[in-house]
Amino acid sequence: MPRGNEIIAALNETLDRSITVMHICGTHEASISRSGLRSVLPSGLKIVMGPGCPVCITPQGEIDATLDLVDKGCIIATYGDLLRVPGSRGSIESCGGDVRVVQGIHKAVEIAEKTDKEVVFISVGFETTAPTVAATIVLEPPENFSILSCHRLVPPAMKWLLEQGEAKLDGFLLPGHVCVVDGYEGYEAFPVPQVVAGFEPEDILLALLMIVRQVKDGRHEVENAYPRAVCREGNVTAKELMYRVFEPCDVEWRGFPVIPDSGLKLRPEYARYDAQKKFDLEIRHVDKHSACICDRVLRGIASPTDCKLFGKVCTPRKPVGPCMVSHEGACKIWHLYQRER
Ligand code: SF4
Repeated sequence: MPRGNEIIAALNETLDRSITVMHICGTHEASISRSGLRSVLPSGLKIVMGPGCPVCITPQGEIDATLDLVDKGCIIATYGDLLRVPGSRGSIESCGGDVRVVQGIHKAVEIAEKTDKEVVFISVGFETTAPTVAATIVLEPPENFSILSCHRLVPPAMKWLLEQGEAKLDGFLLPGHVCVVDGYEGYEAFPVPQVVAGFEPEDILLALLMIVRQVKDGRHEVENAYPRAVCREGNVTAKELMYRVFEPCDVEWRGFPVIPDSGLKLRPEYARYDAQKKFDLEIRHVDKHSACICDRVLRGIASPTDCKLFGKVCTPRKPVGPCMVSHEGACKIWHLYQRER
């Protein structure tokens, strides 16, 4: 791989107009911010953030549904990042229920095996985490175990962003983690330059250069700047397992309306593990009322520092919105690395 300064020189030589590239991955944002990449890019090359943090895009209705499960006496098991995400009547952390932080679904199953109470795993994540959840469900955990599936699929959100045209995107950095599982075949229909990127600063710079070259040449293809981990078809076994257990469904994302086929629900043969069915839960839409602009940050049309609450009213200690909660959230990352700017 060429060295970072060589790629930056090539970017300066190649870029002949202003372009905007979106990434859809909190780990990309962390790497970009930590290494100060934006400060060394040509001024006409802008990187914006998309809906790449699975915790941030979990809508208030799904947090509220989790609180409904607490009211029904369930033990809630989930990742630590989700605990402080605000719903319309507080967060999971503040609900006073029996809430257990786990590292994965297997730990939630262990809890269910040791109790007679109902245990619900709040299952968030993109294509990266859904296969591990599927692998557990096919093993038929105990009957007092179920999941609230809050999974999301990346390509439908990209399609929505392109159709909306709000962020005027010239290309996408494709999320390396997601593409390890999903491959990149499913992105080839989108009429913009796209490059799969790894997570070192040089990986991201190289992917940006490949996008800039496509723009200059008038091409739109999917290229792979992360071949050491990603191939076109992805992990076929993991995908087969994921779609054996889940099927796509229409769901809302925080900051987005309902996006067709962008969620994953359990197939009817696994309905006994579906907490939404088991407890007759309704996932309600909640209108946004606060001054938080996470919705605009997640759609690439605002930066964390555009928010008047950033770093003043809203901090990692007292987050107002989900983007300040998760370690993959843009506001928390910018608070950590870019406050001075
Ligand atoms: S700084 Fe806080 S309130 Fe503002 S957009 Fe980010 S999370 Fe929302």
